[in-house]
Amino acid sequence: MEARYSRHVRFAPIGPEGQARLASATAVVVGLGGLGGGVAELLARAGVGCIRLVDGDVVEWSNLGRQILYTEEDCQHSVPKAVAAARRLGLVNSQLRYEPLVRYVDRGTVEATVGGAGVVIDGTDNLETRYILNDACLKLGIPWVYGACVASLGMTFTVLPGQGPCLRCFVSHPPPPGTLPSGETVGILGPAPAAVAALETAQGLRVLLGKAGPTDTALKHVDVWEGYLATLQFDRADGCPACVRRDFSFLEGRGGVPPGPDHECSRD
Ligand SMILES: [Zn+2]
Repeated sequence: MEARYSRHVRFAPIGPEGQARLASATAVVVGLGGLGGGVAELLARAGVGCIRLVDGDVVEWSNLGRQILYTEEDCQHSVPKAVAAARRLGLVNSQLRYEPLVRYVDRGTVEATVGGAGVVIDGTDNLETRYILNDACLKLGIPWVYGACVASLGMTFTVLPGQGPCLRCFVSHPPPPGTLPSGETVGILGPAPAAVAALETAQGLRVLLGKAGPTDTALKHVDVWEGYLATLQFDRADGCPACVRRDFSFLEGRGGVPPGPDHECSRD
C-alpha cells in the first residue's frame, strides 16, 4: 500500500482490506459548498476511487470564507463549482476518477445523478433537494448521508435503506422555502461546515466499508461555537411512505408530496 494512505491503513477499522475497498468505491457528493467541498476533499485524500461532483453554481466571492476548494481566480472567472472542484482535487490525488456534473438536482435528474453510487453525501443548502435525494436513494437502495449547517450549528445522520429511519421519518415534508434560518439570513461560521463535513465523511466511509449501523442513523447535532455535540436516536415513523411503505407513487404527482394520514399527522 502506498505511503499516501499509510495512516488510514494503520487505522484498524480500515486496514489494507478497507483501503482496497475504498479504491473501488463510488461516492456522489451533491452540493459543493462548505459542506460538500470539505467532504469531497476528505474523500479524495482517503482514496475513494470514483467521486462524482455535483453542483450547478459557479464560484462566488461570498464562498471563499469557508469553501476550501476554491480560489480567487475561480471567482474572477466564475468557474462552475463542479469544474473547479475536480481541478483542485486532481491536484490533491491524481489517481482517482472525478466526474464533475454542472447541474442542479431535481426529480428529473436525481436518479441519473446518484445511480451506481455506494454512498451519496449531502452538501446541499436547501431542504427541497434533500427530500429529492431521500426519496431517490430509498427507491434505489443507496445509503445517503444528510448534512446541514447554519450559523455555528450543524446536523448530520445517515439513511440506510431497510435499516433505519429516513428524512421523512424525522420531518415528513419540507417546510415552505424561506421559513427556516439559512446562511443568507443568519450567516455561517467557517468552522461549522468543516466539522459537519468531517462527521459526514466518516459516516460515508463507514458505509463504503460496510460498517455503518445505528451509530450512523442517529442524529448528530453540533455547535462548534459553544463546543457542544449531542446524539439523538430517532425511529422510523409509522407508515412512512418512503422507507416503511416504500410506495413511491407520490413522486408521480403533487410535486412529490406524499399523501395519507401519516403525513398529515406528523406535520404537527
Ligand atoms: Zn422514513
